Amino acid sequence: MFQFHSVEQYHAQLRAGHATCVQAAEHYLQQISDKQHLNAFIDVYSEEMLTRARALDEQRLATGKMGRLHGVIIGIKDVLCYKNHRVSASSRILQGYTAIYSATAVERLLAEEALIIGNLNCDEFAMGSTNENSAYGNVLNALDETRVPGGSSGGSAVAVQAGLCMLSLGSDTGGSVRQPADFCGITGLKPSYGRISRYGLIAYASSFDQIGIFGTQIPDIALLLEIMAGADEYDSTVSDKAVPAYATQLEPGRKFRFAFFDAALNHPGLDPEIGTAIKEKADELRQQGHQVDEVPFDLLEYIVPAYYVLTTAEASSNLARFDGVKYGYRTPEKNLSLTEFYKKNRSEGFGVEVKRRIMLGTFVLSAGYYDAYFTRAQKVRQLLCSKTASIFQSYDFIMMPTSPVTAFKTGEKMGDPIAMYLADIYTVMANLVGCPAISIPLFQHSNGMPFGLQLMANRFDEVSLLQVSNLLLQAKSV
Ligand code: GLN
Repeated sequence: MFQFHSVEQYHAQLRAGHATCVQAAEHYLQQISDKQHLNAFIDVYSEEMLTRARALDEQRLATGKMGRLHGVIIGIKDVLCYKNHRVSASSRILQGYTAIYSATAVERLLAEEALIIGNLNCDEFAMGSTNENSAYGNVLNALDETRVPGGSSGGSAVAVQAGLCMLSLGSDTGGSVRQPADFCGITGLKPSYGRISRYGLIAYASSFDQIGIFGTQIPDIALLLEIMAGADEYDSTVSDKAVPAYATQLEPGRKFRFAFFDAALNHPGLDPEIGTAIKEKADELRQQGHQVDEVPFDLLEYIVPAYYVLTTAEASSNLARFDGVKYGYRTPEKNLSLTEFYKKNRSEGFGVEVKRRIMLGTFVLSAGYYDAYFTRAQKVRQLLCSKTASIFQSYDFIMMPTSPVTAFKTGEKMGDPIAMYLADIYTVMANLVGCPAISIPLFQHSNGMPFGLQLMANRFDEVSLLQVSNLLLQAKSV
């Protein structure tokens, strides 16, 4: 039977003639059909992928040539455009919509001969932490099917967790890659804001959104990042900083400096077992010769409110384009006034959480409240940016839990949106300040569920972040 460990090992198998791209493709299609009840995939591109896999096998046999992602099977979150394929942000409002171009990130994967296997279920417009806000229904956590996989990129996390593809893409606006990775026991990387082009990524909150990567091996994640990152004339917010060869720079060759916040590790909302595991990891790192210090930080309680004010404001503006006029869902009712027509399309097309956020965002931007909410939240963001910048003058990483608790039970938090928002306490900071952050699956809770360690690095220091993650994961597996 086909078995995947890493891209490097897969490529060695292909070169040695011990496997083919077609065999790999068939293996994953079988897995998807066996585990259909997990509801991770929306569309599976079976025929198209097999045809492409066949062509890759022929090319390799004929020429020996292999792209850097030759035959690597990747799933993409349903917020990424892939030309001539349906994309809907798991929303009824984009029902029936087919992408007319591909996201830059997707183009770059294809150019290296990746195989895109299908698109993955998520919370509607990437708003949520459980994948329960999807027009396609919820996704099950394969480790315990009574629990959520996290969100919003729940399908992307489960696809890797349950072995339905080799790697997957998600998007992370406030933790949507790191938190589901944490809940599912895999690795999830959110790069720096501006590292990967957002062209072709359906927007939630444009100054926060970033494409992220799910995988099990750091070298694979590093390779995908290396391929997708870098300047793009279609996204003016993407950085033109040179892209390091992440995948070949994984040897640290030095000791690291870690900072942590007392308020984060002793937070009343934090599961004490998670707090203890992270404190013990801090001690262990110290014993290994790394520097680990507590640093003062008094902004923790402002982070979630600032995030929800700013992202809902941006979302209310970004989602104004979905009006049912040119594409997407349109009410079947006829003879409506223009205003009624817009109202019906949007009321019927959007789900509850998306509507809540559009209303919140519209409220915080309204003339009478703009200064009280939006301007203040921007000030908090600015304070956070300067505080973080000053920490990174003396430290390589800030270490935190990824989530205050392990995977919730399905339905557990749906009645209490505030409780759901508060659980984002550790992940939203990286998006507010634009730093890269990763969740690495180091721990196991006594309730049987996995949880991760979150590390955040200085802007554009993905090199150190990947190096330390590789180090910690290798140490775990010995
Ligand atoms: N849970 C967060 C939210 O609901 C994160 C979403 C995201 O990163 N897309 O906003």
